[in-house]
Amino acid sequence: MGMGFVSTMLVCDYISGATGSFSTAFGAHTGIGTMPITLYGTEEQKQKYVPKLATGEWFGAYCLTEPGAGSDANSGKTKAVLSDDGKYYSITGQKMWISNAGFCNLFIVFARIEDDKNITGFIVENDPKNGITLGDEEKKLGIHSSSTRQVFFNETKVPVENMLSTRGNGFKIAMNALNVGRIKLAAACLEAQRRVVNEATKYANERIQFKTPIISFGAIKAKIADMATNTYVDESACYRAAKNIEDRIAIREADGNSHQEAELKGVEEYAIECSILKVAVSEHVQHTTDEGIRIFGGMGFSADTPMESAWRDARIARIYEGTNEINRMLSVGMLIKKAMKGHVDLLGSATAVGEELMGIPSFETPDYSELFAEEKDLLKRLKKVFLMVAGSAVQKFDPELEEHQQLLMSASDILIQVYLAESALLRTEKNAKRFGEEAQATQIAMSETLFI
Ligand SMILES: Cc1cc2nc3c(=O)[nH]c(=O)nc-3n(C[C@H](O)[C@H](O)[C@H](O)COP(=O)(O)OP(=O)(O)OC[C@H]3O[C@@H](n4cnc5c(N)ncnc54)[C@H](O)[C@@H]3O)c2cc1C
Repeated sequence: MGMGFVSTMLVCDYISGATGSFSTAFGAHTGIGTMPITLYGTEEQKQKYVPKLATGEWFGAYCLTEPGAGSDANSGKTKAVLSDDGKYYSITGQKMWISNAGFCNLFIVFARIEDDKNITGFIVENDPKNGITLGDEEKKLGIHSSSTRQVFFNETKVPVENMLSTRGNGFKIAMNALNVGRIKLAAACLEAQRRVVNEATKYANERIQFKTPIISFGAIKAKIADMATNTYVDESACYRAAKNIEDRIAIREADGNSHQEAELKGVEEYAIECSILKVAVSEHVQHTTDEGIRIFGGMGFSADTPMESAWRDARIARIYEGTNEINRMLSVGMLIKKAMKGHVDLLGSATAVGEELMGIPSFETPDYSELFAEEKDLLKRLKKVFLMVAGSAVQKFDPELEEHQQLLMSASDILIQVYLAESALLRTEKNAKRFGEEAQATQIAMSETLFI
């Protein structure tokens, strides 16, 4: 439909609220199952496949993971061998955990040609007569109505024109499709959070204990405030990044990039944000559903209430599209790499913070009378904490920093908090100016609560 990036996020957000299973099917189809073609496909490939995928006549799936290749996605053993006449590749291998496998018409498959360092991407039509068989449906903790199966390729013939991009470029395709997948997954978790907050609030109003609706108890109020705040903050961060991406795409198009190139590069430039959002929102949705169960008490544990399945369904978001451990390390790792290439002045800023700490502190009483003056001050300090941690880590451990994972994980948690807090403040401040502070009283309270 030619939608802008923000609109595609909105669709993903609101369509995903129904269930985690539907959200997974939708994401696997429209995201990782289709995006590799729209981002990397030739005109012929796009003309042949995208209209059918876009109308839902066909469904897509994405085959990257293998029994021995999960987080280490480039280590897959699936092989693609060119035929003697050079007309097709013969793909043989085993893929696992493939969402939509049970009903899809098309797979994006990653396989290795000869002993190439990197895998290659292929568009493979699902045809059982072409050496494709499926394992049974996996028995899973959650997302029960999502199809998840193993896919076996046994000398599956794929025409050479179905190679995506160039030989050995598959890992890049896989990672770039995952960048989009990550931010869209974050969006997909938003409506799940809103739904849980709404259901929990309704229940807390109706449930009477000690002759009192439980919503009147401070302990329950604090939970609802926390759940609503997380949801608001996550929304702020998701749509901040989405608008940044949309703007970058527009700038690149104005500079002469095709839409395809502009989208690819525009999202890639925000890969750090995509990882941050994936981790933050998937952790929050799990926390929100857990608090939802607490508010429902014993009824929260019952499969008859919506909390039980919401909690189970939320769990997968921390695993797929790159586990949260991998994404945490990626976010800081990518930032440090940018700094090393001179694209971000991390070390200069870290040194400045170090010098500031060694200097004489100001004894002036800060003026916190303006809206968010204190929060902005706290945010500035939080950024300094990150700079000190990241800067010291680089100075002390580079070039072996990647091996100090505990440090990267902690630094990433600070980075995530900085991004979320800043996003909420920016959004609320803007809306307070537009609509007045009174109209934004709840949003202001949530933005302040975040810093308590
Ligand atoms: C329901 C479901 C649907 C899925 N859908 C798809 C799909 O459609 N297509 C697809 O290709 N895949 C899919 N996956 C696979 C999913 O992306 C992988 O499960 C995920 O990337 C993790 O890989 P793994 O399971 O092999 O875990 P592993 O990689 O074995 O990881 C196990 C643990 O070790 C940690 N770990 C691994 N490497 C490191 C490291 N270097 N440093 C620190 N910690 C590390 C991980 O964070 C994790 O905690 C799906 C999975 C599930 C469960």
